[in-house]
Amino acid sequence: MFSSLTSLTVEIETPAVRPRRISVLGATGSIGESTLDLIGRDPSAYRVVALTGGHNAARLAELAILHRAELAVIADPDAYATLRAALAGTGIEVGAGEEALLEAASRPADWVMAAIVGAAGLKPTLVAVRQGGLTALANKECLVSAGDIFMAEVARAKTTLLPVDSEHSAAMQVMAGCRPERIERVCLTASGGPFRCWSLDQMRAARPEQALNHPNWSMGQKVTIDSATLMNKGLELLEAHHLFSLPAAKLDVVIHPQSIVHCLVHLSDGSVLAQMSCPDMRTPIAYSLAWPERMAAPTKRLDLTELGTLTFEAPNVERFPALRLARDVLATGGSAGTVLNAANEVAVEAFLGRKIGFLAIARLVEATLEASVDLLGLDRRSVEDVLAIDAAGRALTRSLLARFA
Ligand code: NAD
Ligand code: MG
Repeated sequence: MFSSLTSLTVEIETPAVRPRRISVLGATGSIGESTLDLIGRDPSAYRVVALTGGHNAARLAELAILHRAELAVIADPDAYATLRAALAGTGIEVGAGEEALLEAASRPADWVMAAIVGAAGLKPTLVAVRQGGLTALANKECLVSAGDIFMAEVARAKTTLLPVDSEHSAAMQVMAGCRPERIERVCLTASGGPFRCWSLDQMRAARPEQALNHPNWSMGQKVTIDSATLMNKGLELLEAHHLFSLPAAKLDVVIHPQSIVHCLVHLSDGSVLAQMSCPDMRTPIAYSLAWPERMAAPTKRLDLTELGTLTFEAPNVERFPALRLARDVLATGGSAGTVLNAANEVAVEAFLGRKIGFLAIARLVEATLEASVDLLGLDRRSVEDVLAIDAAGRALTRSLLARFA
């Protein structure tokens, strides 16, 4: 137990060479853009190796030119012509499709930001992990879907994983000074999302634009919907379990609507250590970028007297059953995380496409888990096994979708 925590904190040295070679997988997304915002403020300190995007070739080309990337890869093969035209004459290499994405992830770099959303990020992130160096991990779905296999690869490659999720970055920062056996409980905070005070009836009628209106954070669509259902916090319990080798009994969630305290670590002498900052992902990204040192980040400074009050409350699992589902999955282990993640990705997409209502997201995930006894029994030893279970989980969720329409 706690072996990965040890490796997170002491084993690997950061390369002192400058400029540092960096790549950003998912450069056109919310985390990718925030990462490049920090890098762009000190361009002589970095050399951008590879930038990747999903569909938005025009934005990827702009970013590649702005940051003088060596390589730009778009996952969508249909966007290749647009990307190639936009980068013609710049000397920037261009690629498209899965193979090119994996090639981008394998380019030697000192630091790679893994910020593709969903299980689609699993293979590229693992390729980045295998090339060694430092991997800043935003893509929590990798750990939810394939945590055991993923962490085994991290250990094998002797890569240092730097969690970017704000709660896990906070946990890493706080736990760095603690002996693992003295940690009694790690408590992740959650804002509660836009529906924290809504009744079940109101939530039943919630529309995508209301769910996308997060009170504190500006994020990509999928993680914003996950924050509204609290599935995000459920996924983060699984993420913390794998990152820090913490058992379920030591993991907790507390609702903290102001999103100032990101994680609380309870120690055996009764002390509670916490990390605080204004809600801006550039703070945890800056921590991962400068680790093990600190850098300047252009974020709003915290003024507690201006805020006046910080509040905390227990989560309501009746209105937010996703949290209970994630707890059950944590207890089940094995392929349950793969199915949970696959079902949730399909359910969120269906909600955004107005095919199901808001409350149906968790119900559809639950129905998938209940119907997936055969899948949960399957042995998984490789990423290919995980991806096969992921695909079967998605197909199962789609087959159940009509029931919840
Ligand atoms: P986003 O939707 O804004 O960006 C996702 C990126 O992945 C984009 O570049 C997109 O083009 C790319 N992408 C999407 N599908 C792809 C595919 N099939 N193949 C290759 N690339 C693909 O998402 P985000 O909010 O930046 O989140 C990224 C990850 O970070 C998620 O796992 C999320 O849970 C996690 N995270 C985000 C935040 C946040 O504040 N945004 C906070 C904590 C954790
Ligand atoms: Mg988070």
